[in-house]
Amino acid sequence: MVERARRAGEVHAARDIEERARLLGRFKDALLARGDALVEALSLECGKPEAESWLHEVVPIADLAEFWGGEGVELLAPHAPELSSTSYPGKHARVERVARGVIALISPWNFPVAIPLRTLFPALLAGDAVVFKPSEYTPRCAVVIGEAAAEVYGPHLVQVAQGGGDVGAALVGGGVDAVVFTGSVATGRLVAHGAADALIPVGLELGGKDAAIVLEDADIERTARGLLWGAMANAGQNCAAIERVYVCSGVALALRQRLEALAAEMVPGRDFGPVTTDAQLRIIERHVQGARDAGAAVLAGGARLNRPGRWYAPTVLADVPRGDPSLTEETFGPVLPLVEVADEDEAVAAANASPFGLTASVWTRDLRRGERVARRLRAGTVVVNNHGFTGSVPSLPWSGTGASGYGVTSSEYALDVLTRPRAVVVDTRRAKAEMWWHPYTPALAKMGRSLATLRGGAPVGAKLAAVRDLVGAARRRWKA
Ligand code: NAD
Repeated sequence: MVERARRAGEVHAARDIEERARLLGRFKDALLARGDALVEALSLECGKPEAESWLHEVVPIADLAEFWGGEGVELLAPHAPELSSTSYPGKHARVERVARGVIALISPWNFPVAIPLRTLFPALLAGDAVVFKPSEYTPRCAVVIGEAAAEVYGPHLVQVAQGGGDVGAALVGGGVDAVVFTGSVATGRLVAHGAADALIPVGLELGGKDAAIVLEDADIERTARGLLWGAMANAGQNCAAIERVYVCSGVALALRQRLEALAAEMVPGRDFGPVTTDAQLRIIERHVQGARDAGAAVLAGGARLNRPGRWYAPTVLADVPRGDPSLTEETFGPVLPLVEVADEDEAVAAANASPFGLTASVWTRDLRRGERVARRLRAGTVVVNNHGFTGSVPSLPWSGTGASGYGVTSSEYALDVLTRPRAVVVDTRRAKAEMWWHPYTPALAKMGRSLATLRGGAPVGAKLAAVRDLVGAARRRWKA
C-alpha cells in the first residue's frame, strides 16, 4: 500500500497547487454527497445521534475545504527571506514547503470522520499521499471516506488500511515518511518509539482531562448549558470533553442546581448516544463508583440506562475529593465532576495540576479577566465562555501539551509534519572566490577577529582599530 501510495503521490505532488486545490473542492463535494452514508455509518458504529453526526462530523467538511483550498494555498506558497547583503552579497533564497511523501494517518473511533479529514485535507493539498489506518471500531466510516477519495484521486493516492493495532504498528515501520497519530497516551508512546526507529517525524494528539473554571460572576444559565454540552457531547467520548469543573464557592450552589435540572432533561437517542465500546463503559463505571465510594454526591445519572446497549446516563458529581481518579484519569464518558474552590488562584492551580493539557475554558462575564485567566492555564486551547468547539475550526491550531501530546492539527502549524522546508539558494556573484573559501591565510584569520570585534559590544576605540585591521587584512587577502 505504501509503495502504491508513493507512486501516486509523486504524480500528485507534480500537479501545481491550484490544481490540487481544485481537486480538494471535488473531494469535499464527493464527501458531502455521501453525507447520508457517513451519518448512517456513524450511527451504526458509534451510536451517534443524527444531529450530532451532521453537525460535528459532516458539515465541518465544508469549512475544511474552504480554508485549505483558499488560505491553505497561501500558507504553502514559497517565500524569499532576505539575506544580508554584507555577509552574503549577491545571494538569493527561496524557501518552499515540500510534501513529505506518504503520510501514515492513524485515527481513533470517537470522531471517525472529522479527525482523519482534518489531516487528509491539508496533506492532499500539500501534495502528500496518505495511508489511512482507521480504528478497528469504525471501519465503515473509513470505507466511505476511501470511496470519496478514490472517486476524485483514483485508487492509490489515499488508501485505507483496515485492521487493529498490528496494522497500525506495521504501517509506522512500513516505509512511510511521517505519522499523524490521534489516540490514547499508551498507544501514542508506542507510535513515538516506532517513529524514532524509522527516523520519521510524528504528530501525537493524545488524551485529555479538560478543566473548566467557573468564576463568581459567570452567567449561570449559559455556563450550565455550556458545561453540560462540553461534557456530554458524543456521550463524553471526546478528547476535549470537560472532565473537571472548578467552581468558585459563591456560585457553586446555583450551578449545581441548574446542572442537576438540565441533566435530567437530556433525552437518550436525541441528545446523547450510547457508549461506543465495552472497555470505555467499564472505565466510566469504575470512575463513577469510585467517586461515590470516596464520598461524592451524585446529582444526576450515576448508572447505566435500562435499555439494550451500552447506555450510560449523563452524570453530574459534586463534592468529589481531590485526587480521586474521576478527577485525574481520562474518563472519556458522560461524567461531569464538580469541585468547589475558594477563588481564581485555587481554580487555576487545580486546573494546571494535571499531566494533560489539551483544552480548557473559563466562564465569566468579565471578558478581560477571562482572557487573563486563560493565559494562566496550561493547555493548547483555552476558550472563554465556551468549550472545545475549536476542534472543527481549521484556522486554529489544535494541539496539546504534556500527556496530551505534541501534535498539531489544523492551521499553518499542521503543515510542519506534512511538509518539509526546502531552501533553494542562487548565488549571482561573478567573483572568482568568496572571502571565506580556501586558502585560510593569517590575513583571513585577522579579518575574522576584526569582524567579531566590530559586531560585538567593544568600546568605540577598539572598533575603530578593528576597522583599520579589517581593511588592511582584506587588502593583503585580495592581493594574495
Ligand atoms: P487507541 O490508542 O486505542 O487507538 C487509536 C488508533 O491506534 C487505532 O486506530 C488503533 O487501531 C491504533 N493502534 C493501536 N495500537 C497501535 C500500535 N501499536 N501502533 C500503531 N497504531 C496502533 O485510542 P482510541 O481508544 O481509538 O481513542 C481514544 C483516545 O484517543 C482517547 O485517549 C482520546 O482522548 C484520544 N483522542 C485524542 C484526540 C486529540 O485530538 N488529542 C482526539 C480524539 C481522541
